[in-house]
Amino acid sequence: MSKSRVAPRLSADPALSQTPATRPFAYRNRTLHCDGISLSTLAVEHGTPLYVYSADQIAYRFQLFQSAFASRPHTICYAVKANSSLAILRLLGQKGAGFDIVSGGELERVRKAYKPALQRVVFSGVGKQIWEIDAALKANILLFNVESEAELHLLAARAEALNLRARFALRVNPDVFADTHPYISTGLREHKFGIDINAARAIYRKAAKSKWLDPAGVSVHIGSQIRKVDPFAAATARVISLISDLRKDGHNIRYIDAGGGLGIEYSDSAFDPAQQIQKYAVALSRVLSGSVLDPETHLLLEPGRFIVAQAGALLTRVLFVKKNGTKTFVITDAGMNDLIRPALYQAHHEILPVQQPRTRATLTADIVGPVCESGDFFARDRVLPTVKPGDLILLLDAGAYGMSLTSNYNTRPRPAEVLIDGGEAKLIRRRETMKDLLAPELLP
Ligand SMILES: *Cc1c(COP(=O)(O)O)cnc(C)c1O
Repeated sequence: MSKSRVAPRLSADPALSQTPATRPFAYRNRTLHCDGISLSTLAVEHGTPLYVYSADQIAYRFQLFQSAFASRPHTICYAVKANSSLAILRLLGQKGAGFDIVSGGELERVRKAYKPALQRVVFSGVGKQIWEIDAALKANILLFNVESEAELHLLAARAEALNLRARFALRVNPDVFADTHPYISTGLREHKFGIDINAARAIYRKAAKSKWLDPAGVSVHIGSQIRKVDPFAAATARVISLISDLRKDGHNIRYIDAGGGLGIEYSDSAFDPAQQIQKYAVALSRVLSGSVLDPETHLLLEPGRFIVAQAGALLTRVLFVKKNGTKTFVITDAGMNDLIRPALYQAHHEILPVQQPRTRATLTADIVGPVCESGDFFARDRVLPTVKPGDLILLLDAGAYGMSLTSNYNTRPRPAEVLIDGGEAKLIRRRETMKDLLAPELLP
């Protein structure tokens, strides 16, 4: 496999101190490294399956957003569910990130990782519970993204009970089509997310009568892994028109939350994240700048995948290579419980051998895990350099919706996680033990 499979270097951007390659994984002396650290060394030290992340790449991606929107007041609220590791949250929090959370559990993660960021938290999700609302009210988060009228009533009741005022935005459903996998598209009326944008004005009017509610913003989120920027602009334009109406109605709307969802390129074709963010920023700025919004209106963005996906990969070891008739299976020690994206969304992940082969010999195989499900695969009919039992392979672009979607299915301990930071490999989550797995269970 040639070096060209690892994406090209970026052109220099004076606003950024560093412009690392699109992926932090590259061959050095025929062995894959992450920011100078050998993956075969990491496998020996920490075992496999192992998630490996680059702190530089995460910081770089976050900085791309910061620079692209520098001309207006903004907060980049990283979507915690993409990768909720405490060490990654701390890294981003220290750089000034806010956080988009979808549960009380994620609120506790932000508190533990970097407490000062609590005031930059937005709370999304269609099913918030009382304990979650109470915890977020007491933490004085920035904004509740409210997804139904019933939730708004509950929020008012809890704010009154705690004698606090709740800043909220309605998450409106703009009825915009985003071309992505149906499981991660959210912006159409048929989806469970948000409130019909045409009903929003009346709800704000009612809400403004409650002294426990502060109608502070409007938010939208149309889905995930969206690579065209036009749907973002279309959704934002609809939100701006609503904000204009709301201001006429006398509401003091200070925040516009344009959501997350900017996609990446999972295939091995060239992809320049700096260019992609630039396109996204231009598309949003076009609708924001020509609008009724004043320059002080604070822009919130909720990117998840774009910041962490390509900064991480899943390192796994080949257990067996098995032939069934004409088909070849490469069986790895990672399974769908460790990375579910291929099984859940038919997602594509590039796969590289950790040792660069000296020959051009290839095999065509299904790359599968040990879990007892036919859906337990990482790739089907993939052409790979010939691998044998004991070899290490790397599943690229697994930094988002990888570890955060793991499970203990088949009573398998979840992977450990390593963050490469300042030339050092830091263990940020130890491998689970059987004791961890069995601890909550009772035999009454
Ligand atoms: C999942 C989610 C995000 C992040 O989406 P990405 O595709 O990872 O950028 C942002 N906002 C909300 C409300 C979400 O549910």
